[in-house]
Amino acid sequence: MSKNSNSEKRIKVLVIEDEESFIDALTIGLAREGFEVSVARDGQEGLVLFLRESFDIVLLDLMLPKMSGLDVCRAIRAHSDTPVIIVSAKGEEVDMVLLLELGADDYVTKPYRLRELVARIRAVLRRREGRESTDDSDEEIHLGLIRMDIDARRCFVNGEEIKLRKKEFALLRLLLENPGRVLTREVLIDRVWGSDYVGDTKTLDVHIKRLRTLIEDEPKSPKYITTVRGVGYRLETSRISG
Ligand code: CA
Repeated sequence: MSKNSNSEKRIKVLVIEDEESFIDALTIGLAREGFEVSVARDGQEGLVLFLRESFDIVLLDLMLPKMSGLDVCRAIRAHSDTPVIIVSAKGEEVDMVLLLELGADDYVTKPYRLRELVARIRAVLRRREGRESTDDSDEEIHLGLIRMDIDARRCFVNGEEIKLRKKEFALLRLLLENPGRVLTREVLIDRVWGSDYVGDTKTLDVHIKRLRTLIEDEPKSPKYITTVRGVGYRLETSRISG
């Protein structure tokens, strides 16, 4: 895992969470990773704290007293574009498409590993940084074992070149530019094909399948490009970098 480029500045995390066991683990774990952690124990308190202070990122539980995580997310987005990572309990009925549409940046399911959560936080922040500094065009994307030369339209896995067709290249590029983030089928289709997308909805899956055969050790049980059932796909940054 590469170090964050602005590591001098302490990253301020707002944790909105009502389960004490998670609060303790998060506060200690994230502080150890160098984050500055503030905690709110219900949705209302979380929103008040968010509006009063400035944070770099919000970890938002969905099932909260007083105000649901969904409403908190909506209210946060009405005021700012501070990154929000949704934390949901296992087995909870979650409309991920709605959450992503509401502007959540990513989500993790409890129980999670702190290492994975930290990787997600850093990925979201990196992505945000990249979006803000738009003048230096990305000629090259380097993520773990994959290196993509945008100008030359070439891609290398473990130093070996793989041959990609135009749409495959665009699709992999989009995934690489959004590491750790769930990209919905709609977003992928819109950004890679736009109005060119014809025929049945399998086209996207066929392209993903081909990318997997090129970059995965075992394409049938993918570790890097994972399927988020009913939602879309995600490039697993913690795996690809580790
Ligand atoms: Ca909860």
